[in-house]
Amino acid sequence: MAHKFTFYNTLNRKVEEFSPREEGKVSMYTCGPTVYHYAHIGNIRTYIMQDVLIKALEYAGYDVKRVMNITDVGHLSSDADTGEDKMLAGAKREHKTVMEIAKFYTDAFFKDFDAVGNKRPDVVEPATNCIPEFINMVQVLLDKGFAYTAGGNVYFDTSKLKDYYVFSSEVEKEELQVGVRDDVEEDTNKRNKTDFVLWFTKSKFEDQALKWDSPWGVGYPGWHIECSCISMKHLGEYIDIHCGGVDNIFPHHTNEIAQSESYLGHEWCKYWFHSNHLNDRVGKMSKSKGAVLTVSVLKEKGYDPLVYRFFCLQSHYRKPLEFSFEALDNVAGVYNKLVKRVAELKPEGQVDETVKKQFEDAFSDAVCGDLNTSMAITVLYDALKADTNDATKLALVENFDKVLSLDLLGHAKALGEGNEVDPELEAYILDAISRRAEAKKAKDFATADAIRAELLEKGVEIKDTREGVKWQLI
Ligand SMILES: [Zn+2]
Repeated sequence: MAHKFTFYNTLNRKVEEFSPREEGKVSMYTCGPTVYHYAHIGNIRTYIMQDVLIKALEYAGYDVKRVMNITDVGHLSSDADTGEDKMLAGAKREHKTVMEIAKFYTDAFFKDFDAVGNKRPDVVEPATNCIPEFINMVQVLLDKGFAYTAGGNVYFDTSKLKDYYVFSSEVEKEELQVGVRDDVEEDTNKRNKTDFVLWFTKSKFEDQALKWDSPWGVGYPGWHIECSCISMKHLGEYIDIHCGGVDNIFPHHTNEIAQSESYLGHEWCKYWFHSNHLNDRVGKMSKSKGAVLTVSVLKEKGYDPLVYRFFCLQSHYRKPLEFSFEALDNVAGVYNKLVKRVAELKPEGQVDETVKKQFEDAFSDAVCGDLNTSMAITVLYDALKADTNDATKLALVENFDKVLSLDLLGHAKALGEGNEVDPELEAYILDAISRRAEAKKAKDFATADAIRAELLEKGVEIKDTREGVKWQLI
């Protein structure tokens, strides 16, 4: 029997108790990245919170199957089918083919995705693998009268639905109806402003690199259709939880529901999980504001990617989170102290099962109660402070890490091994680092470089980070 599990269901605008269709099993779909550029740390926040959701569900006793798409075609620079094709823009920017761009940024995405402790989805499917499925769904929507062709393209007819704006309150619906896309150039083929493209044949992207034959002419799919099809291909006609960022609620998830439920003729997904934005001081983090801040960039600056995960876990997934290097520095300090505390624990004594169970229950209540990650971390600290032996504490750290994935034991072990460095060598390294700092201060960069080279020769690599110089044996 799984532990009671609640989270905020965007569809009903409230925290609800989760109940899957099949006892003990969860089918989950996640909107994946559009691989035309790097995923910034705000995108990665979304995937971290989804990872916590999956692991918390598993902690509660569920068996989770998760599918994610990779958007490598069809996503225009506005989610509402206008602007440039993102993949094509990426290819032009970097003088590469669309497929080269897709491969490069898919790899870069997973490098950062893995680095922050996320578990890979059970299925990852690129959109370009599923063209026959898209064509089939578009055809069924046309046959059922939910779609029409105009100007060579196929559109979904949103006027056929009783309630298109499924996620919105009555007030929001009115606002959306007034405001919907008044700010962008209008596609005169559309019967209703909210209609969206299912299949493009005629568009301004004559040089679109990826095109496929279809009953409506050579073209390519719209963005929204891919998530409905890829989800159904691997998870069937029903899914329990659909995840994304709050950005996806409208129009992407709204359109996914419109086409999926019109195609299926029944409800498709009962629970919708959305995590909020990461902001910097200027506002929402985005790729259009110049250099993209990625997890890899944080790593180059000397931050452990798990420190970024820890930073995200300290705030609730439904609240916007403000990022700054000062805040990350603070979290890095807290994380290092935590690792040190864990490193000091000795595997002595017998695990006290009663105490262990008591803390596990408190931890379950936190993570299964609308994903209260900051409370879960408090439980971890309480366990470390508890009046019990080290063996019990170590067992709890290991247990909680099934959800937190902060690799506290691994880092503690590495710290222990780091301490085993020959004291003479360590003294030499510290001296060299301070000599180098003095040389740099005196703008004697030749000497500073020579000291770095001398250290390298002895197998010591140094890195300048925001927290000072760090060294490691290589
Ligand atoms: Zn999607």
